[in-house]
Parts: sequence; C-alpha cells; structure tokens
Amino acid sequence: MSSLPTRQRLSEVRYEIRGELARRARELESQGHKLIKLNIGNPGAFGFRAPPHLQNAIIGDIDHTDPYTHQQGLPAAREAIAAAYQRRGLDDVGAEEVFIGNGVSELIDLSLRALLNPGDEVLVPSPDYPLWSAATILNDGRPVYYRCDPDNDFLPDPSEIETLVSSRTRAIVLINPNNPTGATYPRELLQRIIAIAARHRLLLLVDEIYDQVLYDGARFEPLAPLAGDVPCLTFSGLSKVHRACGWRVGWAVLSGERARLREFRHAMDLLSALRLCANVPGQYAIEAAVNGPDTISALCQPGGRLYETRRAVIEACDESAHLQLVAPAGALYAFPAVIGDAAQGFDDHAFALDLLETEGVLVVPGSSFNVPYRNHFRVTLLPDAVMMREVFARIDRALDRRAEQ
Ligand code: PLP
Repeated sequence: MSSLPTRQRLSEVRYEIRGELARRARELESQGHKLIKLNIGNPGAFGFRAPPHLQNAIIGDIDHTDPYTHQQGLPAAREAIAAAYQRRGLDDVGAEEVFIGNGVSELIDLSLRALLNPGDEVLVPSPDYPLWSAATILNDGRPVYYRCDPDNDFLPDPSEIETLVSSRTRAIVLINPNNPTGATYPRELLQRIIAIAARHRLLLLVDEIYDQVLYDGARFEPLAPLAGDVPCLTFSGLSKVHRACGWRVGWAVLSGERARLREFRHAMDLLSALRLCANVPGQYAIEAAVNGPDTISALCQPGGRLYETRRAVIEACDESAHLQLVAPAGALYAFPAVIGDAAQGFDDHAFALDLLETEGVLVVPGSSFNVPYRNHFRVTLLPDAVMMREVFARIDRALDRRAEQ
C-alpha cells in the first residue's frame, strides 16, 4: 500500500540534532550501551535545575494556571519583559509589543509565517541553528545563506550580506551569541547590518536566547536598542539562561517604527490567537526570571561549571593534533574543526556515526548547521569538565585511527 503523502517541502528540511544519529543512540542504549550524548543543549539532562525562585513562582501561582491567558501572554509577564528591555535601552517598548510562546521555537515559526509569501527570501547565517532554515522553508520561503567563516572567528561580513539582498528578501536573521559557533557580535558589526536592513527595508529577526551566557569578559550587545526605527523582532526565553527548557517559555519583542509594524503586529497577534496561548504555568515564572537575581554569570566565570567545561574543551583542542577551535565567547556549544591527516576525505556524518558506534559519544555533524564544509562537529558544553575531558580523549582516539588509515 502506498504511504500517506506529506508536505513536499519537508524533504528539504533537516533537524539532525534529533535525527538519525540520535535514533541510533537510543537503539544502542536499549541494547545496554552507556553513551555520552552531547547533541542537545538541554541543561536539565546534565543535572542543571531551574533556579528555586522560578520554581517557587510557578508553585505559588499554580492555582491560577488553569485558564487560557491572552494570546500574547499574561499581561504581568509581558509588562515585566517590556520593562527588562526598556532597561536595556529599548525605551519605546510596552506589553503590546511582547509575544510569549511555547519556547522561542514556536515564535520563530510564527514570525516567519506572519512575514513570508511564497518565494520570499530570508538571509540566514551559515552555520545556523537549523530551525531558522526549516521554518523559512516550511513557511514557503527560501533561506539564502550568508557566511560566518571560521577564518573570521565565525563573524559575518556585512558587505557579503548586502550582495545577497534581492527584491525578494524580507528579513535578516542574526543569532547572537551564536549557536553553534559561540561567536558574539561586536557593536560596529551590528550597526553595519542594521544599516543594510534600513537601506533595503528588511525586518531583523534577532535570536538572543543565549544573551547572558558569556565567557572571559565577552560583551553582549543587544541589537534592537541600536536599531532605532528599523523593525526588529528580538527572541529570548527561559530555556538556556534560566535552565528551564522543559517549561517551553520564550518571548519575542517587537521594536522599530510603529506605523511600519502595524500589519506585522496584527499578523503575529492573529497567529498567536489561533494557537490560543503558551503554556500557562511556565508563564508564571517569567516575572521572577526577568526581575530576579542573575544565576547564570557565576556558572560562566572561573570555577563555574560551564566555564570549566569550556576550558577543558579549549585545552583538549589545543593539545590535539587533529582539532582546531575558535573558542566560544558565549552560548552552550563548541564547534571544532578536524584538521591535518585526520581531515583527509573527512565526512562529518560518517565520523559522527563511527564515534557513536566505537566510542559511545554522540556529537552533531557540522553540516547539520547548513555549512558547505564537512569537517566540523558540535558538542554542548553542559557536561562537567571531567566528562568533557573523557569525551575529547575518545574523540582524539577516533581521529588517531582515521589519521593512520
Ligand atoms: N534559538 C536557538 C539559537 C537555540 O539554540 C534554541 C534551542 O537550542 C532555540 C532557539 C529554541 O529554544 P526554545 O524553543 O527552547 O526556547
């Protein structure tokens, strides 16, 4: 019997962070193999908990969480988000400009659905977080990639971005701090990209979900306050900075010239209404999160768990004959390159599968992030440093074998 047809454009979509390799890993686990799985930036899976003041906020309000909320989210939570962005310099933003969703993931999809008509183009970074490509494609658009080259510390080149703008371009996506590279974007670079958006009347879609995950004095520059009248939609949430990804809480903040945003705002509101509202218990943690104490910086400083794991990765890559790393300045990942003899004829997928089968370590092949090269892989920085040193010993062993072939 022929199989049920599905949406054709799904054949263009990949999300390998949870794809074939992850399926194979589950199979191995069901056969009793013990694996170290570094494919997902899932803090809870590595022993992190959401801070107690967030948990208490949900528990304290649990009796109020039964009804649907307003489609854009609880007014008090949206006001708290708006006030937090005002403190960052986005003076003109209010609760009306805030959309709360079931994670940033839902809002990425919703915003592209609100924006795109068939054939419209979106400038997406390469590497990207692959949901940005997937959501563009599934909303009938076309991702057009601008390069963030390893040789340029994974920073984009604004002049290249401008050459890619066409009459169909509608938006530029920025991920800062970046997943998978860990790059953070300096102010001048952001200003040049804003100028491109202004010249070509594009929307800036700014994924800042790692906005407070910063190492070694790296600075994070929020884009929207620099953009003035240029339309921006800024995304963040509870998943990473607050280690509560299972609660599925994200937000998007609209800024820029009001008159130009009228239709888009209405579209976002309508699409939000069609899915009724975001998970309500999670929304009750938002005020506590944005007004509460900083609980992430200590983890990113010397002695902190994320800092020490990142240091272990940097040292392991320095010591390896096979690896080269642009040290991540922020976010929860490292994106090393395989170099030298081990890189001859290297296929990142075949390597990731071999690493899983022979060393019990699950990484994500670099090409899953929409890059044209095949010699990178991504690991999350969430395990502790001891486990990470073990991981890189195993990776080096697998690469030694390749180099000897
Ligand atoms: N954006 C980036 C860059 C991410 O890395 C992730 C998750 O890893 C998301 C968005 C989605 O986050 P969530 O849906 O949990 O808010």
